[in-house]
Amino acid sequence: MKLHEYQARDLLDQNGVAVTKGRVATTPAEARKIAEELGGKVVVKAQIHAGGRGKGRLVEESETAAMYEKLTTDPANNAGQVKGERVGGVRLADTADEAEAAAQAILGKHLVSIQTGPEGKLVKTVLVAEQAEIEKEYYLSVTVEGGIASHLFIASSEGGTEIEEVAATNPDAIARIQVNPSAGWMPYVGRTVAQRLGLSGDQADQCAKLAEGLYRTAVNTDASLVEINPLALLGDGRVAAVDAKLSIDDNALYRHKDLAELRDKDEEAPLEIMAQDLGVPNFIKLDGNIGCIVNGAGLAMATMDTIKLAGGEPANFLDIGTVNDPQRVVNALKVILEDPNVEAILINIFGGMARVDIIAEGVIEAHRQMDIRVPMVMRLVGTNLAEGEKLLDESGIEVIRCRDLGEAADQVVSAA
Ligand code: GDP
Ligand code: MN
Repeated sequence: MKLHEYQARDLLDQNGVAVTKGRVATTPAEARKIAEELGGKVVVKAQIHAGGRGKGRLVEESETAAMYEKLTTDPANNAGQVKGERVGGVRLADTADEAEAAAQAILGKHLVSIQTGPEGKLVKTVLVAEQAEIEKEYYLSVTVEGGIASHLFIASSEGGTEIEEVAATNPDAIARIQVNPSAGWMPYVGRTVAQRLGLSGDQADQCAKLAEGLYRTAVNTDASLVEINPLALLGDGRVAAVDAKLSIDDNALYRHKDLAELRDKDEEAPLEIMAQDLGVPNFIKLDGNIGCIVNGAGLAMATMDTIKLAGGEPANFLDIGTVNDPQRVVNALKVILEDPNVEAILINIFGGMARVDIIAEGVIEAHRQMDIRVPMVMRLVGTNLAEGEKLLDESGIEVIRCRDLGEAADQVVSAA
């Protein structure tokens, strides 16, 4: 689950990370009031679940796809716009008047950045924060690195909006510092982070304290990522977070009732919300036209690859898990059929603990409950295959059956 910047800032603050001061507004008048309280010089920032806001563009809903095309195909359209001409979703304002005008220009528009996708994101809220006088920008994040079963700091003195480029062109400029989970926090980790960022003296002390706070935030919120970009050295000597991104591991949300309330469903794909509500796990909406139901995440990935190899495009990722309830199959089909792009469905089941006959029952039940007009290809193997096939034969529903995934992918692509 992603959080908004302002929510992430609050959590960071509570865990001892220095952040620039600010509050959110949903109207230009409120933005003005906050700017007045902060002394006039502020930055007004669109709050959406995507980065690249500074270099994004604000447009009407009907213009988002064309703008996305422009930003992603011509790098000249994607230049920094925060300080010069003010066109993006992060704007510096030197007076309360300017803050009000900036909020007016941002609120209610769709912000398109290279991270939003062609739909852009409607801006409902802006953060009005004290304007930082930035001497230097750094990058600092904590992530969970499965391969080493540890938290990992990623730090770079080349911060700001171009971190992806640094990673591609100068990977050695990016430091990776592991936190041993059985030892927990050790002060040397903070000192190492500061040293790798090239900070010394009081600034190194501030940075080490901030790194500890970042680590505590990650642990306390079960975050899969806490990212500060930029971390800034300010004109007054402070080291503080100027931006914040935080993603919480969905599997840990059950033990963070307070954090679960921070969910902003407007920012999430409607089909993914429907899937959650219907108890269909691990559904991710994609842009293609072939709906997929698969048991097992690895098999679901392989199925998408095979569809692509056959010249098709998957409409979704869906790992239905070990199914012991036909209704879950019905619900999965409900979600997939709600997507107007879907022109054919591939059901790929490798029955281990999942039973093929239960999947078959679900598919038959779905045909009973719904008027399914798209062709359906099923590739079934494993536990209770014979029972499942018998049920399908007796039901009289029309499905194309295949033994082999390659063949099933070819069939579903031509059916679509
Ligand atoms: P993002 O584009 O979505 O990552 O949003 P950021 O909050 O990181 O803003 C983008 C860029 O705007 C930053 O990298 C900074 O260079 C600049 N910026 C953001 N806030 C401030 C500020 O308070 N003062 C100054 N001078 N620049 C800022
Ligand atoms: Mn940023």
